[in-house]
Amino acid sequence: MGRIVQKFGGTSVANVECIKNAANKVLIEHNKGNQVIVVVSAMAGTTNQLINYIEQITDLYDPKEYDVIVSAGEQWNAGLMALALQNLGLNARSWLGWQIAIQTDQVHSKARILGVEIDAIEAALVNTEIVVVPGFQGVSNNRITTLGRGGSDLTAVALAGALNADRCDIFTDVDGIYTADPRLVSKAQKLGKITYEEMLEMASLGSKVLQTRSVELAMNYGVNLQVRSSFDDKPGTIVVSEEEIVEQQVVSGISQSKEESKITLLKIADKPGIAASIFGPLADASINVDMIVQNISEDGNTTDLTFTVSTTDLKNALEVLETRANNIGVGQIIADSNVVKISVVGIGMRSHAGIAQKMFMALADKGINIKVISTSEIKVSVLVAEEYGELAVRALHSAYGLDSN
Ligand code: ADP
Ligand code: ASP
Ligand code: MG
Repeated sequence: MGRIVQKFGGTSVANVECIKNAANKVLIEHNKGNQVIVVVSAMAGTTNQLINYIEQITDLYDPKEYDVIVSAGEQWNAGLMALALQNLGLNARSWLGWQIAIQTDQVHSKARILGVEIDAIEAALVNTEIVVVPGFQGVSNNRITTLGRGGSDLTAVALAGALNADRCDIFTDVDGIYTADPRLVSKAQKLGKITYEEMLEMASLGSKVLQTRSVELAMNYGVNLQVRSSFDDKPGTIVVSEEEIVEQQVVSGISQSKEESKITLLKIADKPGIAASIFGPLADASINVDMIVQNISEDGNTTDLTFTVSTTDLKNALEVLETRANNIGVGQIIADSNVVKISVVGIGMRSHAGIAQKMFMALADKGINIKVISTSEIKVSVLVAEEYGELAVRALHSAYGLDSN
């Protein structure tokens, strides 16, 4: 007898028909003699709709009430899923985040899981009950918290880790993890396996097929993670550790993120301590800075500094910088949100040279100008104008030989 977590994303439980279809997948695992924990997202579009209601009332919203509202979509789907399973003759009940309890910190709207209490669920599973859990929600200090957008993946992985599940299946609207978003690149290829490290980079660089923190947790706890389709029975993509990959591609995937904005500070003083006086206050305001480039000083006295922040932080970052502009001695602050970050990812880069060069050549061939570059051991990222984003992804996909025939 195995123990399996099955997570169904928004499009997989988008309406009653889909919920019934998902319930049948649970029945199949149950009939194989497995214990099943089911994690459900809200119906596709529901969370956005709930956020839209909040925005119609106020922009200065209380994050505790935000969490009460946005967690609701998962809650009703958990109840509907439990009913659909009961309708198939199964013994099923819903367990809300606070009932389990999934304990989190108090950072409402993007809380981190601190621990999962498993005793009650263990007892239910032993009693052949199907445990249905709404994704995305936890509890802190007797208040509902949510785990950040896409957080149902994290709920599933956290439960799989805490309950020592044999497998965590993430059912979604694509049949696996591809070399690039298959909705963007028609020649993208499905990967049989991908390493945790590569998937972690790809997720954090914009491939939202899995939520970034869920991959991190799966890697730390060695959770056997699989992404597969809820609309067919094909095997999906397994996320594995590096040792399990026999033939390593140099580049495994291309990611794109539209959620970055570029800030350029013109004519700042070229002297020690300036970078600290800029990035210190941004860090104090919890603003993460990603790519950074500083120009060579032409006159020896001043220089220009360009960096990126998440577009959701842009307004806040500009306020922080403008209030300190006099102290820093900035000539001008320029912001640009019409940019996109394109990244190539692969653990094979550790042992192969020339990956970045190939990227620059492929982009130059298409006449695409690179605004900022950053690299790490297993990725190279570039920032380009938004209008060239899709062209850049496709050009790189071909350049690294990832196109299907
Ligand atoms: P769910 O609602 O099931 O959580 P998501 O929308 O969060 O689904 O994730 C699935 C989507 O991820 C797909 O529809 C696909 O467009 C997108 N995606 C982005 N990059 C990739 C990739 N490399 N491989 C597969 N899907 C990707
Ligand atoms: N419903 C939440 C969202 O849309 C969580 C999830 O679906 O994973 O972000
Ligand atoms: Mg998702």
